Amino acid sequence: MSRFEPATVNLEFDKRVGDALQDQELRANFRGAMDFLMGKRAAMFPDKEGLEALRTQGEAIRNRCLSQLPELLEQFEQRCTENGIQVHWAETAQEANAIILEIMHKHDATRMVKGKSMASEEIGLNHFLADHGVECLETDMGEYIVQLADETPSHIIMPAIHKNKQQIARLFNQKIDGVEYSENVDRLIGIGRDVLRQKFFEADVGLSGVNFAVAETGTLCLVENEGNGRMTTTVPPVHIALCGIEKVVESLRDIPPLLKLLTRSATGQAITTYFNMISSPRKPDEKDGPKEVHVVLLDNGRSRMYADKQLQQTLRCIRCGACMNHCPVYTRIGGHAYGTTYPGPIGQVVSPQIWGLHTAGSITKACSLNGACGEACPVKIPLADLIRRLRYESNNSEPTSVPAPRGQGALRKRSEAVTWKLWALLLHKPGLYALALFIATRLRALAPRRIGPWTRYRSAPKPAARSLHELAAQRSQSNASSQEHGRHE
Ligand code: SF4
Repeated sequence: MSRFEPATVNLEFDKRVGDALQDQELRANFRGAMDFLMGKRAAMFPDKEGLEALRTQGEAIRNRCLSQLPELLEQFEQRCTENGIQVHWAETAQEANAIILEIMHKHDATRMVKGKSMASEEIGLNHFLADHGVECLETDMGEYIVQLADETPSHIIMPAIHKNKQQIARLFNQKIDGVEYSENVDRLIGIGRDVLRQKFFEADVGLSGVNFAVAETGTLCLVENEGNGRMTTTVPPVHIALCGIEKVVESLRDIPPLLKLLTRSATGQAITTYFNMISSPRKPDEKDGPKEVHVVLLDNGRSRMYADKQLQQTLRCIRCGACMNHCPVYTRIGGHAYGTTYPGPIGQVVSPQIWGLHTAGSITKACSLNGACGEACPVKIPLADLIRRLRYESNNSEPTSVPAPRGQGALRKRSEAVTWKLWALLLHKPGLYALALFIATRLRALAPRRIGPWTRYRSAPKPAARSLHELAAQRSQSNASSQEHGRHE
């Protein structure tokens, strides 16, 4: 999949899942990687009570910040402006892309280097810029691999987790001039680094994501392990940060607990190798840093999530990826099967809200509601409840009092709705229910052997020869007659 095509999510979901399940190499790659990541996270949280206390603190911080989101965003804008950072508001993906392109044009810029940014994947920035003559190079090693392979990320933290080292060795050998096949991981990383280093110096603009935006100080916080984030945000003369509006926190005091939760949950590290805090462009007495810093605050459906008290919890997410690592479905089908920018449990909640249930509502099916994701989530998002709510909304045609999720009722099937209505009617009328049971048990031989896709991997249910009520009645009758018989003896 070379680019994210929202229109294909619902249409191709079942096929993608089927294909992923057939791919034994892919399944082995994900199983191994997820076991590794879960093990690392568990090692970081040996004290269960301490973990719970920290999760409670993380949840409270995110809830407090979200409860004052409009005010904090205004404060953030004011502080940034005072610090010399230019703030732009983008209501939609199209607006965000247009703002970024305009900044590029203002500087006659044609080359961009990018630090890892899922928000930029969300708005389809790379392809948009390519269509407008801008060369856009990913500098995070995983993103670079995925870009080289003309694919999309399969995990929000580890974009190339679906590939093993043999596949990456083949890719480098085929796509980078003069590179020999090598499975030596250090060598592969060295090759990527050599290619990228020169690009940092040639780039006109660097674009990054944002992990936390601090309203109190107008500071952009960026968590990373490779140093590419720091290079992206300091070497090119212009830095653009793309930031979802939910990323704002009240003060610097909120950062340490969230950072602790993020790095330990994401990669099982006590702290990442780099933690960047950007509060202004280069000052006159400073030797490095960009001359201009821009922040693009992206809404793209987040205000709609915010308006619904239950779905607002989606915005607590700090994008650690732990829910994916712990999801039995994601582990088996991998990220590309979802067909959206955000896969796994958080993807099943975010994607249908951004692109609408009519576009991405199908992916809410890929969940057994076992709740492992919610238990792993460092900010206690009840993911299973939110997935269930969105499933319901996909089939619910009744208007709700808050702005309904886009595409509400889009997956409703008339035949299914009629079936459930009949079922509800039977359960409300005991006489009718008994009659239906009587008929079903007597005509069981006529029960269909196939019921659409349901019976592709299962056998069709067949009514029993006698209903439970009949069996119970028979048993009590035979008990009564044996007692009667005993008395006569
Ligand atoms: S929903 Fe929770 S576990 Fe999943 S990415 Fe967001 S913060 Fe992490």
